[in-house]
Amino acid sequence: MADLETNLARLDDHLGRFRSEGVLNRIAGADRAAASGARFETRSPVDDSLICEVARGGAEDIDAAARAARAAFPAWRDMTGAERKRILHRIADLIEDRAEEIALCECWDTGQAWRYMSKAALRGAANFRFFADRAPAARDGQVLPSPTLMNLTTRVPIGPVGVITPWNTPFMLSTWKIAPALAAGCTVVHKPAEFSPVTARILMEIAEEAGLPPGVWNLVNGFGEDAGKALTEHPDIKAIAFVGESRTGSMIMKQGADTLKRVHFELGGKNPVIVFDDADLDRALDAAIFMIYSLNGERCTSSSRLLVQDTVAGDFIARLADRVRKIRVGHPLDPDTELGPLIHGTHFDKVTGYFDVARAEGARIAAGGRRHGETGWYVEPTLFTGATPEMRIAQEEIFGPVLTAMTFSTEAEALEIANGVPYGLTAYVWTNDLTRALRFTDGLEAGMIWVNSENVRHLPTPFGGMKASGIGRDGGDWSFEFYMEQKHIGLATGRHAITQLGM
Ligand code: NAD
Repeated sequence: MADLETNLARLDDHLGRFRSEGVLNRIAGADRAAASGARFETRSPVDDSLICEVARGGAEDIDAAARAARAAFPAWRDMTGAERKRILHRIADLIEDRAEEIALCECWDTGQAWRYMSKAALRGAANFRFFADRAPAARDGQVLPSPTLMNLTTRVPIGPVGVITPWNTPFMLSTWKIAPALAAGCTVVHKPAEFSPVTARILMEIAEEAGLPPGVWNLVNGFGEDAGKALTEHPDIKAIAFVGESRTGSMIMKQGADTLKRVHFELGGKNPVIVFDDADLDRALDAAIFMIYSLNGERCTSSSRLLVQDTVAGDFIARLADRVRKIRVGHPLDPDTELGPLIHGTHFDKVTGYFDVARAEGARIAAGGRRHGETGWYVEPTLFTGATPEMRIAQEEIFGPVLTAMTFSTEAEALEIANGVPYGLTAYVWTNDLTRALRFTDGLEAGMIWVNSENVRHLPTPFGGMKASGIGRDGGDWSFEFYMEQKHIGLATGRHAITQLGM
């Protein structure tokens, strides 16, 4: 049974080698310092202490990694799907073997609580297994006969791809992008977030230990504006799979324009949870709390706006505020902790800045609204009430444990508020009226909607957002649509008339 003391002792064992060596890049199967020799520090959000130094890659390192990915591509593309499947399952096995180490390092590097991260490592393994099983059929196509031709379609991997990931749940998100790319037959250059680089390195080591050939997967650490930018501009990189802020997605689209990059964007959200008065209000309350205060609220699919029908709003919001005040804030490695520290000082400043915005806009802070403790980047779980839809706290992604509550009276009003933001990632609807659920979900502008449920991910379903929340979908076969090119081959079945010119 894990407790804080044991977790801290085990973490210390795992971090020892990073403290002495730092986190190095890995290119073509070899450890590499940054070509410039530059390094940066990664610090723990718990107490801002140094975890280790990290190679600070730039354009030269990206170029070496992209060349390695290009050189490794033909052999990986031409390997049988069955063989790729075997290697990807082996990666999943090794992730499971090292799940505790991954979870401990992830908690310390990101501030996410142990209770969630211990499962996130296993979800990473499940992502590999899911796409491993699909690898043998990735190239399958259709037969579309016409009167004169036997038309065949097939898919081929697009080539070396760049994967750029954020810091909120870095391990799980990296597997979510890289597993389908490899299953499709693409080679990869991964640029993890600079705030949380440790577990990307562990994942890379696992992949090579599992038998992934050198150069199929390359890791370059560094900052977005140099390593990230260089990756999006590199001519050998055929597509960019990006998870991060909407603003960064827009920059990447510009940076990739000259080389006509294919892009897949999973971006920000300001997701509504809409509670009608006929719903199971106890379950709606549990789900609304879970979807904003778990994972430190640093979750793209968090339900950061609560829209509750005015007939039940008073009691619902009072019960909500009471529960929010009782959420256990603490050390991320303590299994009892429900809310850990925010990732970094700059993000802490952003989130706490919204406490002042809320006051200035005339909303009420019904819970939290303060820093928690003296050290680290802890904030109290926070609830804003009395908000109106046009306020910044109801429009902008805060990306912390901060919920903005509003009320509505009619279904039409609820839909207008729900859709009245630039984002469209997820929505959560609570009603026991089936006809309303169908009508309302049809009108919602969101890529993913759950009715009478929190977010429960099912890997065959499409994951992604509308509007400023993204472009493209992952999951099921949608991932292969991104990482592969469609090819059509038309074979004449007879001697059809060919229009003759110049006769
Ligand atoms: P971010 O956009 O600041 O950074 C993400 C990554 O992009 C990092 O690796 C960063 O180094 C890199 N980057 C930054 N500038 C770049 C540039 N000019 N060119 C190339 N790369 C660049 O995002 P973040 O703060 O790390 O993560 C939080 C954001 O991610 C939130 O908006 C959240 O909603 C979003 N997110 C979305 C999903 C989803 O599935 N839709 C999932 C998780 C997180």
